[in-house]
Amino acid sequence: MPRRVVHGGVRAHVSRFTALGLIAMLAVLFAPIGFTAAAPREQGGVNIRILPINRARLLAGQRFDFRVEVSGALASNSDAGAYTVLINGTPASQVFGKEPTKTNVAVNSAELTWRGVSLNQAGKYDIYVEAGPAKRSVSYEVVRPQANGRPAKNVVLMIADGMSWPSLTIARLTSRGQTEGKYNELLEMDRMEATGYFSTSGYDSIATDSANSAAAFASGQKGVVNAMNIYEDNTTSTEDDPRVEHIVDILKRTRNMAIGIVSTAEIEDATPAAMIAYTRRRSDYQPIIDQMFERKPEVLMGGGAAYFIPKSTAGSRRTDERDVLKQFRDAGYTLVANRAEMNAAGTPERLLGLFHPSNMNVYIDRAQTRDPAVLGPYTDQPSLIEMTQKSLDVLANTPNGRQNGFFLMIEAGSVDKQYHPMDWERGTADLIEFDQSLAVVKGFAAQRSDTLVVVVADHGHSISVYGTYDTTKGPGNPDGIGTYDQARFPTYVDRDGDKFPDSWSPSRTLAVGFANHPEYRDDFLFNPRPLSPTIQDPNAAQGVTRFVPNPARDPQGVLIGANIPRNSGTEVHSVDDTPMFASGPGSAYFRGYHDNTDMFFGMMNALNIDATRNASQPTGSAAGTAIGFVMALSVVVGASRYLRRPGTEGVGPISFMVHKAARFGTALRAAAASFRATLHDDR
Ligand SMILES: [Zn+2]
Repeated sequence: MPRRVVHGGVRAHVSRFTALGLIAMLAVLFAPIGFTAAAPREQGGVNIRILPINRARLLAGQRFDFRVEVSGALASNSDAGAYTVLINGTPASQVFGKEPTKTNVAVNSAELTWRGVSLNQAGKYDIYVEAGPAKRSVSYEVVRPQANGRPAKNVVLMIADGMSWPSLTIARLTSRGQTEGKYNELLEMDRMEATGYFSTSGYDSIATDSANSAAAFASGQKGVVNAMNIYEDNTTSTEDDPRVEHIVDILKRTRNMAIGIVSTAEIEDATPAAMIAYTRRRSDYQPIIDQMFERKPEVLMGGGAAYFIPKSTAGSRRTDERDVLKQFRDAGYTLVANRAEMNAAGTPERLLGLFHPSNMNVYIDRAQTRDPAVLGPYTDQPSLIEMTQKSLDVLANTPNGRQNGFFLMIEAGSVDKQYHPMDWERGTADLIEFDQSLAVVKGFAAQRSDTLVVVVADHGHSISVYGTYDTTKGPGNPDGIGTYDQARFPTYVDRDGDKFPDSWSPSRTLAVGFANHPEYRDDFLFNPRPLSPTIQDPNAAQGVTRFVPNPARDPQGVLIGANIPRNSGTEVHSVDDTPMFASGPGSAYFRGYHDNTDMFFGMMNALNIDATRNASQPTGSAAGTAIGFVMALSVVVGASRYLRRPGTEGVGPISFMVHKAARFGTALRAAAASFRATLHDDR
């Protein structure tokens, strides 16, 4: 019923009877909108699906693909041309200034697609589609950013993947400690200008993954699990789904800003990739890297080198012979493969740092335990703190960064990756490292007051701290857990003042649990080596995936039963609202409750982005071409200058590094593979 109110005479009718309109609006509000808006509803044997979905919010000028899918027993293929598609009463082709592409994905299915269109005026847009007996309408909100006061020149978006509110408590307790119930010092995150919280659901499910949730920050749209900056269409291809222009494309197109993407995860992993790629499937690493290369962010640093080298090179995980490292080098990038090289690189115009074939090792393993069996040959990986400093140095000095500003995304990828196996100490150390990286960003911003800093998680985990554990009571003794007055205070010590506890095995540790888990054992003690909590059940029937406790982890621990499906080998994301902090120009927006899609608009507001304009437009197309030519020439000059520089030739270091990894030892690689398998790569 409420879907029809915007059509023709009925609309006039409703506008005369405001009460009826109100009732219709309430009906829309209380209906399960996320589901009904996304899923087609059959009317007279015909379904209509409109993408973007109902209640989508777009930036004025933000480019998107608009698609209407009509299917069902009575949806004859020949109908496509006869469908009515109106935007505020005007035919869509007239509004967009172009005709749609017409396709038939299947028998009794027809699609109309307008690619790369935009709506340039702010306001509400009612979309009405009529196909045979079926009618359907959705509405979009188009907004024009407005900086509240002086606009920001730069934005640094910091994402602690999987951080929840209790994560902050645990980091503060272990990093700063308390004296008689008061913290000795606060975290950097505790000392920001704005504090808020936000919800993270996608349009397919209340529970999100990192692709979907990070893409909400990047393009302001709700998505589906595993997807980035697209609306899922009815084809099987993961590359052709209707796109909505993301932050990197907008900032490059409208202002030619410099871009930096930094993560401790594989750089092609969900959160970093969501800033810069469009895909239905986050595990499409090769196309994601192709899209990264096309966009040429000035700074790209993290793990994931195995997808940058040709298939025939030892350690490669590519399926083709493309040498992406060589392509980056040829495009003028300085390539670095370890901390020493990164430090020696100075401030090149373009920097690609790949420090591990897969995810970088976590802080505890990288900087504290330094166990050769865990690190392998990767003994000189930079910290996130050092990568943060380097990326700021490069972006603030690169010509377009200096002139037009920059957007830098910094992710602590392994807070999430360590919470999944319920290794809370490793997750916490990486969160402290993230917080120390924030200290670097705040130091940078304090000197200039033109930089918005936004700190968010992308989703939560069900972690909670409820007391302490007396380790003298041995492994896995529930009576060693102190609750209420018996909890007392943990005994972590930070003698060297680096904000990390010197040891994760003090006499009294924290008691930390997770609300969802597979069946596993917990002995309440720190694991000197990372181990999966589960293994695949060797007794499971053929073709059945079922996890049981890993006999090698916490063998004396208490057995904790599964409360999630047995085919999940790790803890899963929570649906809980997650923390949000901001400082600098535009930060006031980030107070109170928000939806995750709001982050995008908050950043666009702060930068005062006009997405209806292109950076090269104001000087006219001839001048634009000249600028393009000069830019291309400077790239060539830069590349040749780079090629002449001694000591930077070729892809040597990373190839060598990956090659060594391939030979590092079958046992370790097998262990790593089984560990990765339990981590469910697709989440
Ligand atoms: Zn995760």
